[in-house]
Amino acid sequence: MTNPSTPPTRQRRIIVPYGTRPEIIKLAPVVRALRANGHSVITVNTGQHSDASMSGDLSLALGLDATITNTVPLDPSPRLGQIVGDALRIVAEHRPELVLALGDTDTVPAYALAAKRSSVPFVHLEAGLRSFNQRSAEELNRKIGSASASLHFAPTERSRTFLRAEGIENERIRVVGNSVIDALLATSMSPLDLNERAGVLVTAHRATNVDDPQRLARLVDLVNDLASTIGAVTFPVHPRTAQRMAQFLPGVRFHERVTLSPPLGYFSFIDQLRRALLVVTDSGGLQEEASFFGVPLVVLRGSTSRWESVENGSVRLATLDDDDGAVRAHEAAHLLTREETLRAVASIACPYGDGHTGEAVARQLADPSLDRFLILEEPSFLDGEVPW
Ligand code: UDP
Repeated sequence: MTNPSTPPTRQRRIIVPYGTRPEIIKLAPVVRALRANGHSVITVNTGQHSDASMSGDLSLALGLDATITNTVPLDPSPRLGQIVGDALRIVAEHRPELVLALGDTDTVPAYALAAKRSSVPFVHLEAGLRSFNQRSAEELNRKIGSASASLHFAPTERSRTFLRAEGIENERIRVVGNSVIDALLATSMSPLDLNERAGVLVTAHRATNVDDPQRLARLVDLVNDLASTIGAVTFPVHPRTAQRMAQFLPGVRFHERVTLSPPLGYFSFIDQLRRALLVVTDSGGLQEEASFFGVPLVVLRGSTSRWESVENGSVRLATLDDDDGAVRAHEAAHLLTREETLRAVASIACPYGDGHTGEAVARQLADPSLDRFLILEEPSFLDGEVPW
């Protein structure tokens, strides 16, 4: 007999696909919480990141095991096609109650389409980020996520505002924070005092920065300049960037205080991040992680999808598009490493969540009152009314 004081709960069958490093980091705590709350989760590794340092080792370290593992070709065009094909097949075969995908990678449009084709509701996590960059494939992926989703788990009120501006009903939006903070809390690494921090952490892998020889050369100049003027630079080099450096800048020389390495394991990377005075990056997730540790950051892009950090003064944008841009990046780095700025940024509360996003998502999905949002229906205009 059920206890009348215990509210009813739903234990749903959910497909959670992921394919890249940030998806693994952000979804590991969500899948853990879903399972702990009794949901049945089928995890699918789409195979998008095949490099062990970016995928397999990381999944193992974070305890995210794949129920289904796909492999896809390295060549980008057949790869995207195969991710979509695999998604269509897997969702049709398993017919889950919902598909839950995160963020802005190709996983999102592939599984949104697959869910729709199988009449399964799609739920978008990390919904409502907007860079307003019309050249960004990630921005399109985010919008496809929003256009497809029956429910939008947004990280902040700012992202709710962006979704509302695009006509998404408020009751379908739930602000739950970003699970990147859950992952950080699980490391037990806390922010460090200013006197325990030094140097700069650099990462770069966006095509706009590293696929162009001149911009890549500006990046190298910037890294060398930071090493000579601010302090030791740690630069874990993304596989794409390593390949482009070998191709465009063979024999390139770095300042003696620059330490290059392959991508670091997540825990070592996070430890480097909290020990840095400053981060310089074109990564999205790092903007959230740096904020948790109170570390200021220069974004090597003209736009960002994390405006909260621009608004609170912990992030400045600068591009490597031309020499003036590179000078601005240099100036931004110096402004952000002034002692008063470092102290001010260290005291800003992290706007990206409280570290309990996975739990919030799992609890909300267990709520039967959500069922009405998960029904996919064709509206009826048989009475001659029109929808506007
Ligand atoms: N990261 C890592 N090792 C590294 C560099 C980054 O574990 O050497 C992690 C980092 O903590 C962050 C994520 O990778 O959570 C960011 O991934 P990426 O920059 O590839 O993606 P984006 O966030 O830009 O989508």
